[in-house]
Amino acid sequence: MNIKPEHLPLYPFNRGEIDLTASSLWRYKSAIPLLPETPIVSLQEGFTPMRLVTVSGISLWVKQEQLSVTGSYKDRGASVLMSKAKELGIREIVQDSSGNAGCSIAAYAAAAGIACTLFVQKDTSPSKLAQMEAYGATLKLIDGTREDVADAALVAAKHTYYASHVYNPYFLQGTKTFAYEIAEQRNWKMPEAVVLPAGNGTLLLGCYIGFQELLASGIITHIPKLIAVQAAHCSPLAQAFFNQPPNLQIQTTLAEGIAIAKPARAAEMLEAVHKTQGTFITVSEQAITDAWKACAQLGYYIEPTSAATIAGALSYAASSPQSDIVTLFSGHGLKSTDKILKLLHA
Ligand SMILES: *Cc1c(COP(=O)(O)O)cnc(C)c1O
Repeated sequence: MNIKPEHLPLYPFNRGEIDLTASSLWRYKSAIPLLPETPIVSLQEGFTPMRLVTVSGISLWVKQEQLSVTGSYKDRGASVLMSKAKELGIREIVQDSSGNAGCSIAAYAAAAGIACTLFVQKDTSPSKLAQMEAYGATLKLIDGTREDVADAALVAAKHTYYASHVYNPYFLQGTKTFAYEIAEQRNWKMPEAVVLPAGNGTLLLGCYIGFQELLASGIITHIPKLIAVQAAHCSPLAQAFFNQPPNLQIQTTLAEGIAIAKPARAAEMLEAVHKTQGTFITVSEQAITDAWKACAQLGYYIEPTSAATIAGALSYAASSPQSDIVTLFSGHGLKSTDKILKLLHA
Protein backbone atom coordinates (compact mmCIF):
# COMPACT_ATOMS: atom_id res chain seq x y z
CA MET A 1 0.00 0.00 0.00
CA ASN A 2 1.25 3.46 -0.87
CA ILE A 3 0.76 6.68 1.01
CA LYS A 4 2.82 9.85 0.92
CA PRO A 5 4.13 11.91 3.83
CA GLU A 6 2.31 15.23 4.09
CA HIS A 7 3.79 18.71 4.50
CA LEU A 8 2.73 22.07 5.89
CA PRO A 9 4.10 25.48 4.92
CA LEU A 10 6.56 27.25 7.25
CA TYR A 11 4.80 29.21 9.98
CA PRO A 12 5.87 32.59 11.37
CA PHE A 13 7.72 32.66 14.69
CA ASN A 14 7.47 35.81 16.78
CA ARG A 15 9.71 36.14 19.84
CA GLY A 16 7.37 38.66 21.43
CA GLU A 17 4.57 36.09 21.46
CA ILE A 18 6.32 33.49 23.63
CA ASP A 19 4.18 32.71 26.67
CA LEU A 20 6.82 32.97 29.37
CA THR A 21 4.45 31.53 31.98
CA ALA A 22 4.23 28.14 30.21
CA SER A 23 7.03 25.69 31.04
CA SER A 24 6.13 23.39 28.19
CA LEU A 25 6.34 23.57 24.41
CA TRP A 26 3.04 25.46 24.54
CA ARG A 27 5.01 28.61 25.36
CA TYR A 28 5.32 28.70 21.52
CA LYS A 29 1.57 28.24 20.92
CA SER A 30 1.44 31.23 18.56
CA ALA A 31 3.88 29.43 16.23
CA ILE A 32 1.87 26.22 16.08
CA PRO A 33 -0.77 26.08 13.34
CA LEU A 34 -3.92 25.39 15.34
CA LEU A 35 -7.06 27.49 15.64
CA PRO A 36 -7.10 29.83 18.66
CA GLU A 37 -10.09 28.02 20.16
CA THR A 38 -8.60 24.53 19.84
CA PRO A 39 -8.45 22.73 23.18
CA ILE A 40 -4.80 21.92 23.84
CA VAL A 41 -4.01 18.33 24.79
CA SER A 42 -1.05 18.70 27.11
CA LEU A 43 0.61 16.73 29.88
CA GLN A 44 3.37 19.35 30.27
CA GLU A 45 5.79 18.23 27.55
CA GLY A 46 8.83 19.94 26.13
CA PHE A 47 10.86 22.85 27.50
CA THR A 48 13.27 20.23 28.80
CA PRO A 49 16.42 21.26 30.64
CA MET A 50 19.61 21.57 28.62
CA ARG A 51 22.68 20.56 30.63
CA LEU A 52 26.37 20.56 29.89
CA VAL A 53 27.38 16.92 30.24
CA THR A 54 30.97 15.77 29.97
CA VAL A 55 31.05 12.26 28.50
CA SER A 56 34.43 10.56 28.11
CA GLY A 57 36.16 13.93 28.46
CA ILE A 58 34.01 15.67 25.82
CA SER A 59 31.49 18.35 26.79
CA LEU A 60 28.11 18.35 25.10
CA TRP A 61 24.98 20.40 25.67
CA VAL A 62 22.36 17.71 26.22
CA LYS A 63 18.60 18.32 26.12
CA GLN A 64 17.05 16.02 28.72
CA GLU A 65 14.26 14.55 26.58
CA GLN A 66 14.30 11.34 28.63
CA LEU A 67 12.47 13.36 31.29
CA SER A 68 9.41 13.71 29.01
CA VAL A 69 6.03 12.56 30.29
CA THR A 70 6.11 9.12 28.64
CA GLY A 71 9.90 8.89 28.62
CA SER A 72 10.80 10.11 25.13
CA TYR A 73 10.74 13.26 23.00
CA LYS A 74 7.84 11.76 20.99
CA ASP A 75 5.55 13.52 23.48
CA ARG A 76 6.22 16.78 21.64
CA GLY A 77 4.70 15.44 18.45
CA ALA A 78 1.89 13.57 20.18
CA SER A 79 0.72 16.64 22.11
CA VAL A 80 0.39 18.77 18.97
CA LEU A 81 -1.02 15.97 16.79
CA MET A 82 -3.64 15.04 19.37
CA SER A 83 -4.59 18.70 19.81
CA LYS A 84 -5.13 18.84 16.03
CA ALA A 85 -7.28 15.71 16.25
CA LYS A 86 -9.38 17.45 18.93
CA GLU A 87 -9.72 20.50 16.67
CA LEU A 88 -11.02 18.24 13.89
CA GLY A 89 -13.48 16.58 16.24
CA ILE A 90 -11.82 13.17 15.84
CA ARG A 91 -13.06 10.51 18.30
CA GLU A 92 -10.96 7.56 17.20
CA ILE A 93 -7.42 7.17 15.86
CA VAL A 94 -5.10 4.43 14.66
CA GLN A 95 -1.34 4.41 14.62
CA ASP A 96 1.52 1.97 14.07
CA SER A 97 4.81 2.11 15.88
CA SER A 98 7.60 -0.09 17.06
CA GLY A 99 7.77 1.61 20.42
CA ASN A 100 7.96 5.10 21.83
CA ALA A 101 5.69 6.83 19.33
CA GLY A 102 2.97 4.32 20.23
CA CYS A 103 3.48 5.01 23.94
CA SER A 104 3.19 8.77 23.38
CA ILE A 105 0.16 8.60 21.10
CA ALA A 106 -1.57 6.25 23.56
CA ALA A 107 -0.91 8.62 26.47
CA TYR A 108 -2.15 11.72 24.65
CA ALA A 109 -5.17 9.88 23.24
CA ALA A 110 -6.04 9.00 26.85
CA ALA A 111 -5.59 12.64 27.89
CA ALA A 112 -7.77 13.73 24.96
CA GLY A 113 -10.49 11.16 25.56
CA ILE A 114 -9.92 9.76 22.07
CA ALA A 115 -10.10 6.01 21.42
CA CYS A 116 -6.75 4.66 20.25
CA THR A 117 -5.85 1.49 18.36
CA LEU A 118 -2.17 0.69 17.92
CA PHE A 119 -0.72 -1.77 15.43
CA VAL A 120 2.56 -3.17 16.69
CA GLN A 121 4.93 -5.98 15.90
CA LYS A 122 4.56 -9.02 18.10
CA ASP A 123 8.14 -8.78 19.38
CA THR A 124 7.90 -5.17 20.61
CA SER A 125 9.56 -4.63 24.02
CA PRO A 126 7.19 -5.90 26.76
CA SER A 127 7.73 -2.74 28.80
CA LYS A 128 6.54 -0.58 25.90
CA LEU A 129 3.52 -2.82 25.24
CA ALA A 130 2.65 -2.57 28.94
CA GLN A 131 2.85 1.22 28.78
CA MET A 132 0.56 1.40 25.71
CA GLU A 133 -1.95 -0.95 27.31
CA ALA A 134 -1.87 0.96 30.59
CA TYR A 135 -3.04 4.12 28.81
CA GLY A 136 -6.04 2.17 27.51
CA ALA A 137 -4.98 1.66 23.90
CA THR A 138 -6.31 -1.33 21.99
CA LEU A 139 -3.30 -3.31 20.81
CA LYS A 140 -3.25 -5.24 17.55
CA LEU A 141 -0.22 -7.50 17.57
CA ILE A 142 0.94 -8.29 14.05
CA ASP A 143 3.10 -11.29 13.31
CA GLY A 144 5.08 -9.87 10.38
CA THR A 145 7.47 -7.21 9.19
CA ARG A 146 7.36 -3.48 9.98
CA GLU A 147 5.75 -2.98 6.53
CA ASP A 148 3.02 -5.53 7.31
CA VAL A 149 2.24 -3.58 10.47
CA ALA A 150 2.01 -0.29 8.55
CA ASP A 151 -0.25 -1.89 5.93
CA ALA A 152 -2.62 -3.20 8.60
CA ALA A 153 -2.78 0.27 10.16
CA LEU A 154 -3.50 1.86 6.77
CA VAL A 155 -6.43 -0.46 6.15
CA ALA A 156 -7.86 0.49 9.55
CA ALA A 157 -7.09 4.19 8.92
CA LYS A 158 -9.56 4.22 6.01
CA HIS A 159 -12.35 4.47 8.56
CA THR A 160 -10.64 6.50 11.26
CA TYR A 161 -7.84 9.08 11.64
CA TYR A 162 -4.26 8.01 10.96
CA ALA A 163 -2.26 9.62 13.78
CA SER A 164 1.06 8.60 12.26
CA HIS A 165 4.26 10.12 13.60
CA VAL A 166 5.80 9.51 10.18
CA TYR A 167 3.16 10.68 7.68
CA ASN A 168 1.08 13.18 9.66
CA PRO A 169 2.66 16.65 9.39
CA TYR A 170 1.29 17.84 12.73
CA PHE A 171 3.68 15.53 14.55
CA LEU A 172 6.58 17.59 13.16
CA GLN A 173 4.83 20.77 14.34
CA GLY A 174 5.45 19.43 17.84
CA THR A 175 9.03 18.29 17.37
CA LYS A 176 9.98 21.61 15.76
CA THR A 177 9.77 23.21 19.21
CA PHE A 178 13.01 21.36 20.03
CA ALA A 179 14.77 23.86 17.72
CA TYR A 180 12.96 26.83 19.29
CA GLU A 181 14.08 25.69 22.74
CA ILE A 182 17.70 25.30 21.71
CA ALA A 183 17.56 28.89 20.45
CA GLU A 184 15.76 30.35 23.45
CA GLN A 185 17.79 28.45 26.06
CA ARG A 186 21.01 29.69 24.46
CA ASN A 187 19.80 33.25 24.31
CA TRP A 188 19.25 32.99 20.53
CA LYS A 189 22.86 32.13 19.77
CA MET A 190 23.22 29.10 17.55
CA PRO A 191 25.55 26.18 18.31
CA GLU A 192 27.88 24.99 15.58
CA ALA A 193 26.10 21.66 15.27
CA VAL A 194 23.05 19.79 16.51
CA VAL A 195 23.50 16.02 16.66
CA LEU A 196 20.28 14.07 16.20
CA PRO A 197 19.09 10.48 15.72
CA ALA A 198 18.06 9.49 12.20
CA GLY A 199 15.45 6.74 12.09
CA ASN A 200 12.25 8.08 10.57
CA GLY A 201 13.55 11.58 11.15
CA THR A 202 10.69 12.87 13.30
CA LEU A 203 13.09 14.97 15.37
CA LEU A 204 15.57 15.75 12.60
CA LEU A 205 12.85 17.07 10.28
CA GLY A 206 10.99 18.86 13.04
CA CYS A 207 14.22 20.55 14.03
CA TYR A 208 14.90 21.57 10.46
CA ILE A 209 11.42 23.13 10.20
CA GLY A 210 11.93 24.96 13.50
CA PHE A 211 15.31 26.38 12.48
CA GLN A 212 14.00 27.42 9.05
CA GLU A 213 11.17 29.29 10.76
CA LEU A 214 13.59 31.05 13.10
CA LEU A 215 15.73 31.99 10.12
CA ALA A 216 12.76 33.23 8.06
CA SER A 217 11.64 35.33 11.03
CA GLY A 218 15.08 36.99 11.20
CA ILE A 219 15.78 35.73 14.71
CA ILE A 220 18.83 33.68 13.79
CA THR A 221 21.32 34.32 11.00
CA HIS A 222 22.18 30.73 10.13
CA ILE A 223 20.98 27.21 10.77
CA PRO A 224 23.41 24.99 12.69
CA LYS A 225 24.78 21.93 10.94
CA LEU A 226 22.42 19.02 11.42
CA ILE A 227 24.46 15.90 12.17
CA ALA A 228 22.40 12.74 11.69
CA VAL A 229 23.35 9.54 13.50
CA GLN A 230 22.59 6.00 12.37
CA ALA A 231 23.68 2.63 13.68
CA ALA A 232 26.28 1.10 11.36
CA HIS A 233 24.14 -2.05 11.44
CA CYS A 234 21.22 -0.19 9.82
CA SER A 235 22.39 2.88 7.92
CA PRO A 236 20.50 3.24 4.63
CA LEU A 237 20.55 7.05 4.80
CA ALA A 238 24.25 7.34 5.56
CA GLN A 239 24.93 5.02 2.61
CA ALA A 240 22.79 7.19 0.34
CA PHE A 241 24.39 10.40 1.66
CA PHE A 242 27.89 9.13 0.85
CA ASN A 243 26.75 7.54 -2.43
CA GLN A 244 27.71 4.08 -1.28
CA PRO A 245 26.02 1.10 -2.86
CA PRO A 246 23.13 0.19 -0.58
CA ASN A 247 23.98 -2.72 1.67
CA LEU A 248 20.82 -4.75 1.93
CA GLN A 249 22.30 -6.83 4.72
CA ILE A 250 20.72 -5.06 7.68
CA GLN A 251 21.74 -6.45 11.05
CA THR A 252 20.03 -6.10 14.40
CA THR A 253 21.28 -3.27 16.58
CA LEU A 254 21.09 -2.09 20.17
CA ALA A 255 19.67 1.12 18.71
CA GLU A 256 16.35 -0.51 17.76
CA GLY A 257 14.57 2.88 17.87
CA ILE A 258 16.50 4.15 14.86
CA ALA A 259 16.71 0.88 12.92
CA ILE A 260 14.46 1.93 10.04
CA ALA A 261 15.34 0.17 6.78
CA LYS A 262 13.15 2.33 4.51
CA PRO A 263 12.34 5.72 6.04
CA ALA A 264 9.33 7.27 4.29
CA ARG A 265 10.85 10.76 4.51
CA ALA A 266 14.35 9.69 3.42
CA ALA A 267 14.70 12.32 0.67
CA GLU A 268 13.70 15.12 3.05
CA MET A 269 16.15 13.91 5.69
CA LEU A 270 19.02 13.83 3.20
CA GLU A 271 18.10 17.33 2.07
CA ALA A 272 17.99 18.73 5.62
CA VAL A 273 21.47 17.41 6.37
CA HIS A 274 22.82 18.52 3.02
CA LYS A 275 21.35 22.04 3.11
CA THR A 276 22.74 22.73 6.59
CA GLN A 277 26.23 21.52 5.62
CA GLY A 278 25.80 18.72 8.09
CA THR A 279 26.78 15.12 7.71
CA PHE A 280 25.84 11.56 8.62
CA ILE A 281 27.70 9.57 11.25
CA THR A 282 27.41 5.83 11.74
CA VAL A 283 28.19 4.22 15.08
CA SER A 284 29.24 0.66 15.88
CA GLU A 285 27.57 -1.56 18.46
CA GLN A 286 30.70 -1.19 20.60
CA ALA A 287 30.53 2.61 20.43
CA ILE A 288 26.84 2.50 21.43
CA THR A 289 27.64 0.23 24.38
CA ASP A 290 30.55 2.41 25.50
CA ALA A 291 28.51 5.62 25.29
CA TRP A 292 25.63 4.00 27.17
CA LYS A 293 27.97 2.85 29.97
CA ALA A 294 29.70 6.23 30.17
CA CYS A 295 26.32 7.98 30.56
CA ALA A 296 25.11 5.50 33.19
CA GLN A 297 28.31 6.06 35.16
CA LEU A 298 27.47 9.78 35.22
CA GLY A 299 23.99 9.01 36.58
CA TYR A 300 22.07 9.21 33.30
CA TYR A 301 19.91 6.15 32.65
CA ILE A 302 19.01 6.25 28.96
CA GLU A 303 17.75 3.85 26.29
CA PRO A 304 20.46 2.08 24.30
CA THR A 305 18.95 3.79 21.21
CA SER A 306 19.67 7.15 22.85
CA ALA A 307 23.28 6.12 23.44
CA ALA A 308 23.75 5.84 19.67
CA THR A 309 23.15 9.59 19.33
CA ILE A 310 25.63 10.31 22.12
CA ALA A 311 28.19 8.03 20.48
CA GLY A 312 27.64 9.98 17.26
CA ALA A 313 28.08 13.31 19.06
CA LEU A 314 31.35 12.09 20.63
CA SER A 315 32.60 10.94 17.27
CA TYR A 316 31.67 14.27 15.65
CA ALA A 317 33.32 16.23 18.48
CA ALA A 318 36.51 14.18 18.10
CA SER A 319 36.69 15.15 14.43
CA SER A 320 36.04 18.86 15.05
CA PRO A 321 37.61 19.91 18.35
CA GLN A 322 36.38 23.06 20.13
CA SER A 323 33.00 22.60 18.54
CA ASP A 324 29.91 23.79 20.32
CA ILE A 325 27.46 20.91 20.12
CA VAL A 326 23.85 20.42 21.20
CA THR A 327 22.43 16.92 21.35
CA LEU A 328 19.90 15.00 23.47
CA PHE A 329 19.09 12.03 25.61
CA SER A 330 16.14 10.87 23.49
CA GLY A 331 14.56 8.26 25.75
CA HIS A 332 14.54 6.93 29.31
CA GLY A 333 16.34 3.71 30.23
CA LEU A 334 13.33 2.41 32.18
CA LYS A 335 11.70 1.82 28.78
CA SER A 336 14.06 -0.98 27.84
CA THR A 337 14.99 -2.96 30.91
CA ASP A 338 15.10 -6.15 28.84
CA LYS A 339 17.73 -4.74 26.46
CA ILE A 340 19.73 -3.16 29.26
CA LEU A 341 19.91 -6.43 31.21
CA LYS A 342 21.39 -8.08 28.12
CA LEU A 343 23.82 -5.22 27.67
CA LEU A 344 24.98 -5.44 31.29
CA HIS A 345 25.38 -9.18 31.28
CA ALA A 346 26.79 -9.63 27.78
C1 LIG B 1 11.88 7.71 17.96
C2 LIG B 1 13.15 7.69 18.69
C3 LIG B 1 14.37 7.96 18.07
C4 LIG B 1 14.54 8.17 16.60
O1 LIG B 1 13.70 9.06 16.05
P1 LIG B 1 13.23 9.06 14.53
O2 LIG B 1 12.09 9.94 14.53
O3 LIG B 1 12.82 7.66 14.13
O4 LIG B 1 14.36 9.53 13.72
C5 LIG B 1 15.51 7.98 18.86
N1 LIG B 1 15.46 7.72 20.17
C6 LIG B 1 14.31 7.43 20.79
C7 LIG B 1 14.33 7.11 22.25
C8 LIG B 1 13.13 7.42 20.08
O5 LIG B 1 11.98 7.13 20.71
